[in-house]
Amino acid sequence: MKIEIQSCMNCGSFWFVKNLICKPCYTAMIGQFANPQSSEIRGHKVRTLMKWNPGETNTLSSLVYILKENQPQLWMQLSLDFVNLHQLYNSNEVLLISVQPTLSHQDHAQSWGNAISAHLGCEHIVGLRKFNPTAQKDKTKFERTDLELISIVDISAFTSKKIIFVDDIVTTGSTLKAAYEALGRPRDFECWSMAYRTVGSIAK
Ligand SMILES: [Zn+2]
Repeated sequence: MKIEIQSCMNCGSFWFVKNLICKPCYTAMIGQFANPQSSEIRGHKVRTLMKWNPGETNTLSSLVYILKENQPQLWMQLSLDFVNLHQLYNSNEVLLISVQPTLSHQDHAQSWGNAISAHLGCEHIVGLRKFNPTAQKDKTKFERTDLELISIVDISAFTSKKIIFVDDIVTTGSTLKAAYEALGRPRDFECWSMAYRTVGSIAK
């Protein structure tokens, strides 16, 4: 049997390391940044696992860095903490919808949506895609922030369901707003996200 020794991405410890982060660091991170209240962003209810103020912490930056590698087990853990934190149980009442990844964007939103879907037993559809992303290149940075999405799913077949837009990180809420419009302004609409990153100081 081959034994691989991993060290924690955050503290360097070799103890209790699961999915590249050690248990004490993971627990401290969830405890410190957990965001059990739902927020209202651009008029929509947004539930997040954590609230992230960039510059305030390196732990969450490390986490996001880890997640850039494909980490399905870590997404499973994060989403389990999310559903427990928000006490989400009604699997038949929700439909999860995410945006199709593009070549330049990894499918973090899919990993997040798939993991929640696995915990709740609800359906997850990759039902939105970016509208003509190449045309965005001609626009100024300011214009680009309100990206357009188009729906590739007919949600009229799901009128009894609460429509949940799933995304890994919510910042300004422009994607969320575009999703709401593209889906035809569903009557019952929320966003579920891993982190709400405040826009104060963004290091990219
Ligand atoms: Zn650690």
